[in-house]
Amino acid sequence: MRRLACGNWTRAARSNHCTCAETARRAYRARMSGPIVDRIDIVRHVRPGSPASDDPFRPVESSAEVRERVAAARARQRERFAGRSWRLNAHVPSPRLKDTWPLPAPAQQLIDAEVLAGRLSARGAVRVHRLAWTVADVRSVRTGRDLEPGVDEVATALRLRSGQPLDLAMFQQRPGAEGAA
Ligand SMILES: [Zn+2]
Repeated sequence: MRRLACGNWTRAARSNHCTCAETARRAYRARMSGPIVDRIDIVRHVRPGSPASDDPFRPVESSAEVRERVAAARARQRERFAGRSWRLNAHVPSPRLKDTWPLPAPAQQLIDAEVLAGRLSARGAVRVHRLAWTVADVRSVRTGRDLEPGVDEVATALRLRSGQPLDLAMFQQRPGAEGAA
C-alpha cells in the first residue's frame, strides 16, 4: 500500500514539519503530469490557519462583496465579447486573442522572455495573456479606472501562475474613487 503523504509540508522553511522522504515528495508532485500542470492558471500557497487573533485567514471581505466584484468583472467581459460565441476571457480562441485583443509590446515581451527561458510553454503563454485580461478587468472594477492589460497585468498574471506573492497595492481603490463624478 502506498504510504500517505504526511500533509505537513509548507513552503516556509520555519514552519515546515514534513516527515516524508524527498523521493516521496517528488513522487507525490509527479502525480500531476506536466500537461495537466500546464493547464492550471493560478497557483497560491496557503498557510495553515491559526486560532490566534492575528489569523491571516480572518475574513476581510464577505463572500457577497467578492461575488459582486466577480460579477462586475464578468460583465466587462460580456460587454467586450458582445456578438461573439464566448463570454469569458478564458474562452477566447487563441488566434482571436492575438489579433483582436493583443498586448502592448512591452507586456508581450515579458511573456516571450518567459517562453524563451523555458519557464512557459506556448500554451502557457496564451493562458497568461488571457489571465492578464482578467487581472485588468478585476483591477478596473477595484480602482474605478478603465484598464487594458499592460506590463503590470502581465507581471501579475505570471505571478499568479507561478505561485509568487502579488503586489496587492495595484488592486487598491484610489482614495475618493468611489462615487467620484
Ligand atoms: Zn510530508
